Amino acid sequence: MINFSSYSFRGKKVLVRVDFNVPLNKETFEITDDKRIRAAAPTLLHILENGGSLILMSHLGRPKEGPEEKSSLKHILSGIEKVMGRPVKFSNDCIGENAKNLASSLEPGEILLLENVRFYKEETKGDMDFAKQLSLLGDCYVNDAFGTAHRAHASTTQIATFFPNDKMAGYLMAAEIESAKKVMQDTKRPFTAIVGGAKVSDKVLIVENLLNVADHIIIGGGMAYTFFKAQGGKIGNSLCEDERLETCIQIMKRAKERGVQIHLPMDSITADEFSPTANTQLVESSAIQDGWMGLDIGPSSQASFAKVIEESKTVLWNGPMGVFEMDAFSSGTKAVAEAIAKATSNGAFTLIGGGDSAAAVQKFGFATQVSYVSTGGGALLEYFEGKVLPGIEAVEN
Ligand code: AMP
Repeated sequence: MINFSSYSFRGKKVLVRVDFNVPLNKETFEITDDKRIRAAAPTLLHILENGGSLILMSHLGRPKEGPEEKSSLKHILSGIEKVMGRPVKFSNDCIGENAKNLASSLEPGEILLLENVRFYKEETKGDMDFAKQLSLLGDCYVNDAFGTAHRAHASTTQIATFFPNDKMAGYLMAAEIESAKKVMQDTKRPFTAIVGGAKVSDKVLIVENLLNVADHIIIGGGMAYTFFKAQGGKIGNSLCEDERLETCIQIMKRAKERGVQIHLPMDSITADEFSPTANTQLVESSAIQDGWMGLDIGPSSQASFAKVIEESKTVLWNGPMGVFEMDAFSSGTKAVAEAIAKATSNGAFTLIGGGDSAAAVQKFGFATQVSYVSTGGGALLEYFEGKVLPGIEAVEN
């Protein structure tokens, strides 16, 4: 693989696929969180400082029928200028004459942002000809969009074939790959994986794959209740996927065969409605009355989960322990975040999966006390499911 740090960018027009799919205010189209732009900045600054110019490609939102106002990247132009501290040019089409002219007149140190690549259906179809047209704009290709690395799209995957000797992963992508490998390949033991969130069906592949590597798997959140029901427990109105009962039994069986300890939350904070002001009760998770639903793990589970986590040397976390968006049901998720911070200070390597878990460590103030917070939700999940991510493979091989 070509090394990004030692590659010579002098005088080159560098096509960089970034993940600038940032949240925008629905009325004013202002950026509400520029984390993704800041995350790509070290890669972009390195190229500029080494004499290159930048042609930035990204998607924003999920436009279905061509160009649409709310998904235009023009809304984030000033946000990029703010982070990069210099002006950014904009092409209102990612391919075609305008893009070609603007790209060919770029001077070293200058930045050009192309309009949303998903305004063309060819992008998500991984169309070769579209990828070729994008490739003609630059001299080399850098992929720093970990968040879309699980998609075989034209600007993340096919484009790399036009740069056999000039394609590479940027700093953010490299950091994501390195931290994921620390968990899956250079694992320090004991390794505890914490999986939570709403549904068993979303997490079954990751749990099955983790059975091959983890020493402990902690299961919390709504998905835990399908496990309790599968074991004959009463779960009242808690979330449950009846069609996954057998899956849960198989997971428990395979864990036993492999010596992996599965930890379920033995107590739950239950509510009589899905509401922040619901009446609550602390009960055993397998004895929940009809009309009540488990919305968070209870204090005994918090303490026993924290003990396992704090004694671990590697920790992976994906998915909240309860409805953490509501204060009344956030203490389980907070306790797990705190235990992960403690494990980190004890020397463990701790990786927080994107999406809700990243939002939770941020919300509870532990984001700087863990080893790495991933920027990729779906991509990270697929990596830990054991899948090959096409965006990574395209620049590595
Ligand atoms: P996921 O996207 O699958 O990781 O699920 C995250 C969502 O699961 C969050 O919005 C949580 O509010 C929700 N969640 C977590 N625990 C529960 C629960 N016990 N009951 C209902 N929803 C839950």
